[in-house]
Parts: sequence; structure tokens; C-alpha cells
Amino acid sequence: MDKLNTLKKYFGYSAFREGQEILIDNILQGRDVLGIMPTGAGKSICYQIPALLFSGITLVISPLISLMKDQVHALNQAGINAAYINSSLNESQISKALRLAAAGQYKIIYVAPERLETYEFMQFARQAEISMVTVDEAHCISQWGQDFRPSYLKIVQFIRKLEKRPVISAFTATATENVKEDIVCVLGLNNPYVLVTGFDRKNLYFAVETPAGKDKYVLQYIGEHEAESGIIYCATRKNVDTLYDKLRAEGIAVTKYHAGLSSEERRQNQEDFIYDKSPVMIATNAFGMGIDKSNVRYVIHYNMPQSPENYYQEAGRAGRDGERAECILLYSAQDVMINRFLLENKEQKGEYTQEEMEAIAERDEERLRMMIYYCLTTDCLREYILRYFGEHGAGHCGNCRNCLREYEQIDVTEAAVKIITGIKEVRQRYGINVIAGMLAGENRAKLREYGVTAYESFGSLRGMREVEIKEIINRMLVQNLLLMTNDKYAILKITSEADAVMKGDTSVILRRAKKESRQETEGSRRKKSGKAKARKSDILNSRGLELFEQLRLLRTEIAREENVPPYIIFSDKTLVDMCVRVPLNKADMLEVSGVGENKFERYGERFLGAIADYTGGIREKFYFGDAEEL
Ligand code: ADP
Ligand code: ZN
Repeated sequence: MDKLNTLKKYFGYSAFREGQEILIDNILQGRDVLGIMPTGAGKSICYQIPALLFSGITLVISPLISLMKDQVHALNQAGINAAYINSSLNESQISKALRLAAAGQYKIIYVAPERLETYEFMQFARQAEISMVTVDEAHCISQWGQDFRPSYLKIVQFIRKLEKRPVISAFTATATENVKEDIVCVLGLNNPYVLVTGFDRKNLYFAVETPAGKDKYVLQYIGEHEAESGIIYCATRKNVDTLYDKLRAEGIAVTKYHAGLSSEERRQNQEDFIYDKSPVMIATNAFGMGIDKSNVRYVIHYNMPQSPENYYQEAGRAGRDGERAECILLYSAQDVMINRFLLENKEQKGEYTQEEMEAIAERDEERLRMMIYYCLTTDCLREYILRYFGEHGAGHCGNCRNCLREYEQIDVTEAAVKIITGIKEVRQRYGINVIAGMLAGENRAKLREYGVTAYESFGSLRGMREVEIKEIINRMLVQNLLLMTNDKYAILKITSEADAVMKGDTSVILRRAKKESRQETEGSRRKKSGKAKARKSDILNSRGLELFEQLRLLRTEIAREENVPPYIIFSDKTLVDMCVRVPLNKADMLEVSGVGENKFERYGERFLGAIADYTGGIREKFYFGDAEEL
């Protein structure tokens, strides 16, 4: 069987996504590969298909026990023999799994890195035919990453002990240069084919909001997205607990996750979320590694995270099924302080020299700064993120808050000159609050105490409100005319580029959201945007939505019977495709995206039955517009 047939037969897809085919081809030719692809891009298929085509066994090394179980579950559902070996099994279960493995029972075996050096596992590995070793979450091998795991270093020793060196394929979503080099070098990849695919996730809508009350915003948002699954990330455990209590009191089916809960509670809550018993999860960033839930429709950040890396990874947990999903960050200036505090009190994993510690602290500050600018920019948010990861977008994506907002452009160069003059006059010693207060001519005790009321610049922007002055300062920060020191005082300094403004060579243009568009509701915004029309409520008409609901109920019923998460049976996207195509027989059903032969054997008839019941065997149109558009 070739790779395309394998894709269709086992996974039910008829085409490869960007990057998959080239990686698969290289692996099949016996070349090591490193695939750097964002979350949700489809890394698993890149090694699962070669694994099926190789004559021997593929070992997949993954740090995440929950993910292993999920992946193996999904593979078994698709009719692929796979198993996992990790500490969630007892000794006799492990022995049994290894016995079956030695007998050639499995094509794919997931193992935790700690297992590799056990005597029993080594015994097995020495006599088995191992065609490939796949290292998932490969950035865990790098001491520069945030998730360094010393046990990953054992992979190299393990491979050395094998009779014949297998192909090595490594995958990660972390793209920074240091980490990339570490993976190639430490893992000992042999002239690897390295592929970095687009970090753009077109189905994700990005927004930064600054609501007066975050709780109220969250409540309203959940209300408008009933029956949808979402994650709300908070910076601290305390925030998680407080928000959880509030939402519970409102009768919303939420659950929570943070390191302060017992492991049993965490397991239970995670499961409630995955099985859609509690579709809304409130959590710290301890939650999510290895969560493979594909129907997460929104990720809200209640607080700004520490870096664009963290943000994109967490937000990226939305919309893994490729359907439209929203990533919303609720920003307030206080978030900056919370993060500074968290960074200062960060525990260092591993041992570092003084020099290394300083380098890490500096890097953390730089990342935080780039995160803050993301919250302040009025340019395309997607473009901002892509640039951060070294890519370029179109400059205007049409599917982020900033692209959809209507702006008026205001030339604020004159005010910018006064701001620079003021900062110079106080000899670059104060932060944004003092500077804005001084220029606005506020007669506050604090300002008198600092003596800034005596400067010539005092009141030079009288008539402007302090928030407006701060808005201009923020713009100047993003434009790199000013900079803020990396300590808790956050003092404003002038950069060399500010000269051009003073000379009249550069102007400062503020883009301010027009009043009416600021109050726009989400619904009206979505209608206007026209793009990214992938949400089921945008595609399906009311009859279509009813059919979808019937199919969803059937899916839940089967999930209960088989005790697996619903999305392992079929994704939302697959159900929507059923509503669009209205399959009435087996051949039709196999055309549906996500329905492979094995899935058809298991569930096809029941879903055909539900569709026949609803339609009476007559195909009608359950969607808006033309099929081509979908
Ligand atoms: P990653 O590991 O890169 O985060 P996954 O391997 O979990 O991503 O894949 C994300 C989703 O995309 C899964 O639901 C998977 O079935 C789906 N997918 C992968 N490849 C394809 C494809 N060629 N066509 C359609 N869907 C795909
Ligand atoms: Zn945009």
C-alpha cells in the first residue's frame, strides 16, 4: 500500500497537509528528519504513516503519559495495532505488553523516556526489528527550552545500544534557533531533513480586549458560546479558584486545573473536560501539555502570559480540528506586574552558572516585552506573531480583532515631541505614570513629592487626558522610539530612533478604534468579516444544525458505550461534513473527511442510520451558499 491509500484507509483523509508528504517521503527513504510544525498542524501522521509502511516496529518517545493513552486509543480506533508502555501500567501489564510486542503484535509503541534504560525494555529492543525511533516533543531535549527533561538525554544512549541504527524522526512545535540546533546536535541526527512549516493557523481568530470587568466579559462570552468547549487560562492558582467559584455560582459547567490540586482531582477534572462533561476549563499554564482535544472552540487568556511562545502554544490548543476558533487575550496593565513577579520568583530547573542564569533572565524579560507589545499593537495580530517566529504574513489577515476594527489615523507627532522632551527633562528617571501625569499637568501629591511639578514640561500636554498620553507612549514603545527598562520600575528611556522625531523626519501616527466599532458585538463582527467561514453555525442552516445535533448525540452515546472521548470517534469537522454531504450509503460515507475504512466498519452504519432517520432518505441542502465555498 502507498502512503496516500494509507492516509485514506486509516485516517479517512484524502490529501496531505502542508509538509506532511515531504517528511514522510524522506523518512521512507531512510533519512532522519526534524519536523517543526505548530500545534494542530498534523505531526502525528508524519510518523504514523511511515510506521505503517516500514516492516519493523516504530518506537515513539513522548514525555506525556496522557497523550500516549489518547494517541494509542485513536490509533486502535483507526484499526492500527499500537500500545504504550509507561508508569501508568503495573509490572505485569508491562511484561505482557513487551511479550506481545516481541511477538510482532504492534506496529507502533509509545514509550516514556524513563523506560528506555530498564533491563526488560532493552532486552526487548535488542532482539526486535526497530525501523524507526520517533521523538515527539523533541524540544524537551534542549536545556534552552522551557520544558527540558533530563530523561530525554537517555534516548541517545538507548539508540547507540541497538544492533542496527533505526531512522530517527523528531518533532516539535518550538521553532527557536537554539532549540533547533540542540535537537539536531544532542539527538545526533544524521544529515537530517529539517522542515519548518507555516506557523500560521488560519482558522484561529485573534483578539486582545481590555474590558472594564474581566469576569463580566468571560461570563457574557460563555453565555454567547453555550455548548461550546473552551479553556480559560489564568496567571495564578488564586485567579483560577476565584473565577471558578464565580462561574460555578452562575450555574456554568466549569472545571479547573492547577498544580495545587491533588493528582486525583487533576485527573478527574481533566477527564471531565476531555469527555465534555464540563466543557469549560479554567486553568493555569500547568494544564494543556498533551491535551489533544480537537473541539476546543475558544481559548481565553484571563491574564497576559509571559511570552509569545507560551501564548501561541496555549492559544493554539483552540481549533485543532481546523474549524474556526477564537483566541482572546484580556489585557490589563496589572498583568505586567503579575508576570514580573512570577519571573522574579521563578524556580530554575536544572543547574546553571551565574552567567547562564543572567542570560535566561534577560531572555525572559525580552519575551515579556514582546508579549506586552502584542497587547498594545494596533496592527495585524497574526502578522505580529508570525514575525516573532521569523515568518511573514500578508500584513493584513482579515481575521483578527485589529484587522476587523475600523480605525481612524491621528497624527500625534507634536505630542510625541513633547513626550520625548519631558522624558529628557526628568533625565530619564521615571515610569509611564509619572510622565503621563506630569505632561497632563496633574496636581497629585506623588508628583509634587518627586518634584516633577517644577519642570518646564509640567502641563505641556494639558488638555489631553492621561490615558490618551499613555496611548501615545505605548505607540512610541511599539515603534521603538522609547523603551522601558527591564526592572520593576519600568522606567521610560529614549532610543536613538527618537532623534528622527525631534528633527521632524519621522511622524507618529496613532490608530485609534472608531467609537462605534469598539462597541460592536461579536455577532455583528462575524457577519461582517465574511472570511474564515468555518464555524458550523455559519455553514449549516437551521435544519443542518438540527441534523448536526442528532449526530452529536449519537456520538456522545457511542462515546459512553466505549468509554472514549467523543472526538476520538469523529471530530466536529467530520460531523459537519456529514451534514453537508448527506451520505446515504457506504460509498458516500467514505467520501466524508475523517471517515476511513476502519472507522466506517465501526460506526458507519449507525451514522448512516441517523442520517436516514432525519432525512427520510431524501437529500436536501443543509448549508448556506455554494458547496465550493466550504
Ligand atoms: P499536532 O501533533 O501537530 O499538534 P495532530 O497530529 O494531533 O497535530 O493533528 C491535528 C488534527 O489534524 C488531528 O485531528 C488530525 O487527525 C488532523 N489531521 C492531520 N493530518 C490531516 C490531513 N492530512 N487532513 C485532514 N486532517 C488531518
Ligand atoms: Zn489581522
